[in-house]
Amino acid sequence: MASATPEIQQRVEQLRSELQKASYAYYVLDNPIMEDAVYDQLYRELENLETQYPELITPDSPTQRVGDKLSEQFTSVKHHIPLYSLENAFNLEEFTRWQERWQRIAPETKQFEYVCELKIDGSAIALTYENGLLVRGVTRGDGVVGEEITQNIKTIRSIPLRLQSDHPPARVEVRGEAFLPVEEFERINQEKAATGESLFANPRNAAAGTLRQLDPKIVDRRRLQFFAYTLYIVDTENQSYPQTQWESLEFLQKIGFLVNPNRKLCQSLEDVEQYYQHWDTRRRNLPYMTDGVVVKINDYDLQKQLGFTQKFPRWAIALKYAAEEAPTRVKNITVNV
Ligand code: NAD
Repeated sequence: MASATPEIQQRVEQLRSELQKASYAYYVLDNPIMEDAVYDQLYRELENLETQYPELITPDSPTQRVGDKLSEQFTSVKHHIPLYSLENAFNLEEFTRWQERWQRIAPETKQFEYVCELKIDGSAIALTYENGLLVRGVTRGDGVVGEEITQNIKTIRSIPLRLQSDHPPARVEVRGEAFLPVEEFERINQEKAATGESLFANPRNAAAGTLRQLDPKIVDRRRLQFFAYTLYIVDTENQSYPQTQWESLEFLQKIGFLVNPNRKLCQSLEDVEQYYQHWDTRRRNLPYMTDGVVVKINDYDLQKQLGFTQKFPRWAIALKYAAEEAPTRVKNITVNV
């Protein structure tokens, strides 16, 4: 393998430093300095260069990090199942390659189903219920450890404080996306503009910033919403509980959560493609922001067999939509290699 030229080394260092700055602004300050599409493009370029020249990988490279930075203002809580990010596919070819990859790990799988869900542009949170009562709400954090924000989470009206069930499982974890509807995001920014405060860049940063507010009263005034999309019941051997993602979404709805109705059970790549195209234009009419679709293998046994990489579940992928505007700022730091 050819070794990296000084130009390539310089490019890698430059990408690393730009991405580190952007990540800090995005996750810690909730105030991004570049568009997401630009970030994704630069990240992909760095990943490709590091694959080609592994000797250039450093432990502080953004590609070696699992998730967000944690704030010291909240108590840290370890997730008992990691709450990792999702691998991205930026087009259907990449999606097909992902399918081929997982099929190589489980070659005996002849029949399978996917659940397609909209990718809501908000902040992932994990809720724990004990004997039906909400006891804890935690941010995704770095995927392994999150921040305890129970008081803030209790202000979200679509999160039940008690599950609607006469015989709730002893311990349930529900994960989903806290988000700000576009109208609410605009109202908050108008209010901020009126008082001369700096504005939120987008609904996703506004949601993340709101969840980490130290004053729950401020959180309460901003009407966050929550779509549930993951269910973990500790007593998994009990066969009366859901054994697939699709059944889980229905179960979540039954026990009192808001579940996004725009989901689809797919049997083939063609079905996934159709869902993806269908929502590409229609998503602009939704009252909340989406930036892609999430495709998950339906069967829990197959999910378990595939497991996780260091950063992602192998049984799900985010199929992203192309950015709305041209990524202009990427030009400023492009070096020919
Ligand atoms: P991600 O947004 O690409 O995907 C993972 C997340 O999707 C999950 O954690 C969850 O919160 C969310 N999600 C929404 N709907 C879901 C559903 N139905 N099922 C499961 N998950 C669902 O990954 P990420 O790690 O949260 O963030 C990385 C992204 O952040 C990058 O794509 C990048 O664009 C952006 N970013 C931007 C900047 C910037 O400077 N603009 C900096 C850092 C990161």
